[in-house]
Amino acid sequence: MSQPNRIRYRIVPIDPAAHLFEIGLEIDDPDPGGQQVSLPAWIPGSYMIREFARHVIAIDARLGSRRIALEKIDKHTWRAGPGSGTLRLTYRVYAWDLSVRAAHLDSTHAFFNATSVFMRVAGREHEPCAVTLSAPRSGGDGWRVATTLPRAGARAWGFGSYQARDYDELADHPVEMGTFSQARFEAAGIPHDIVISGRHDTDLERLKKDLAAICEAQIRLFEPRTAQAPFERYLFMTMAVGDGYGGLEHRSSTALLCARNDLPHVGMAGVPEGYRTFLGLASHEYFHSWHVKRIKPAAFARYDLDRENYTRLLWIFEGFTSYYDDLMLVRSGVIGVADYLKALSATVTSVLRGPGRLSQSVAESSFDAWIKYYRQDENSPNAVVSYYAKGALVALCLDLEIRTRSAGRRSLDDVLRLMWRRYGRQFDQQRCGLPEDGFAPLALEATGVAVDDALARWVQGTDELPLADQLRTVGVDFLLKQADDEAPSLGVRLATRQGDLTITTALAGRAAMRAGLSSGDVIVAVDGLRVDERSLKALLARRKAGDRVTVHAFRRDELLQVDVRLAAGDATECTLSLDEHAADGIRRQRNHWLGQHA
Ligand SMILES: [Zn+2]
Repeated sequence: MSQPNRIRYRIVPIDPAAHLFEIGLEIDDPDPGGQQVSLPAWIPGSYMIREFARHVIAIDARLGSRRIALEKIDKHTWRAGPGSGTLRLTYRVYAWDLSVRAAHLDSTHAFFNATSVFMRVAGREHEPCAVTLSAPRSGGDGWRVATTLPRAGARAWGFGSYQARDYDELADHPVEMGTFSQARFEAAGIPHDIVISGRHDTDLERLKKDLAAICEAQIRLFEPRTAQAPFERYLFMTMAVGDGYGGLEHRSSTALLCARNDLPHVGMAGVPEGYRTFLGLASHEYFHSWHVKRIKPAAFARYDLDRENYTRLLWIFEGFTSYYDDLMLVRSGVIGVADYLKALSATVTSVLRGPGRLSQSVAESSFDAWIKYYRQDENSPNAVVSYYAKGALVALCLDLEIRTRSAGRRSLDDVLRLMWRRYGRQFDQQRCGLPEDGFAPLALEATGVAVDDALARWVQGTDELPLADQLRTVGVDFLLKQADDEAPSLGVRLATRQGDLTITTALAGRAAMRAGLSSGDVIVAVDGLRVDERSLKALLARRKAGDRVTVHAFRRDELLQVDVRLAAGDATECTLSLDEHAADGIRRQRNHWLGQHA
């Protein structure tokens, strides 16, 4: 008989119209000198300080029936007491963030991550806890519960008693309540559930079939001999909205936010781009079940939820995941090779269009994720490189480099599998992770290929990646649209804001910046003619690089007139295609890489 839990949480969607949850927290034997409790400053998987405590309202503390002192001692910490007996805290949390990272409640559904609602009990984060999930007191007809939080009395999909081994586990099982649609499939013998909230008309049979193929392929990637998954069940929690995109990984579930039109509908032919995007997102978060939820950077082996946790390795944990997410779509046969190359071309184009790749390395981008990648502003395209997109291309180059230098006998898959055996499989027992300088020795051990020089140039440095050369080794032609073929350009990114043609970013070193225009300036006329996005494009198409144009623009309320010397266009666009004349050996490499066994 196990001991009753000495920490007990209860949550009820108390006022859906006001977006308020009420939380009860009972703590047996609190610190007699004053028990501290706090909400995390961030949620693992999303590297930004979010200060979840800012949504806590109306908190009160009791010992027995007696109300006791509660003092706030920093932005996210309270101290109750002193006193002895069972401490009972009651508070409300405002939940109106429709993202996968926080909490959201209205009359149609409730969603929360524990990091937004359940306070940590200082010094007792390693204790098991009980969790009671309650239905709304009114409304909520037909609501059920979707979560992979272990049940402790609640029926499947029901309200009632759940439990967690410790706060870390509690924080890693988000909860959805509502009248979601539901479907189940098996991959490698493991039950996988999909729930979809929000209005939608999804072809669930199609979705089940495609996700099953992707999940099966990933399980076999990490455990080719045993096909054993690291969880007993898995849950895709999906929120369908008009326009939205996001995902957050957890140890046996993921929360996804997607455009309802990206979900497949009955009778849909092929894999339209929106659906490919959704499958890529699901594949990405599922891959994280191994890669970042179990294989972790050493810096994340024990999260410190009070402050930033620094690592230079997000290019491995997000970059490799971004590489494999689409690669597993083609390897599992869910998309064809042409669609895969189209997706890869788009990633290359996005990286090559960002001048930030020349000033920030992916190692630096990883370390500074907290203040740069996650907090982008008008200058970010000039200063920040994405450790997702460039990290995916680094993974591609490493994969192809290893394949070439091992004569096709080894690949990045082997490095992943060694990482999994060394750091992932036993994570719960060992709690150790990949050291900051651990990748090169691990890759050498797994493949016999030394990658130190490559890492110095591609990861710690800002050299352009040798994409064309690497792709040639697998018979893929790399074509970059020549900037000279295009209309000349101002070297800006534009958006129409409240009818104003606004420079969102003046790209570093390009024509507009050299002439003195800035992000935020509103372009009103070029060569004396009023312009909008369409007419500006038409006007530039009739000029050539080197021509001068006169631009009138407002900065705040002051009119500027500048002469801009037009430069070659920035319509960099990468197109990847199969080399139909590739030699047999190269074709074999390509088929092996893409999992084509024709
Ligand atoms: Zn990710």
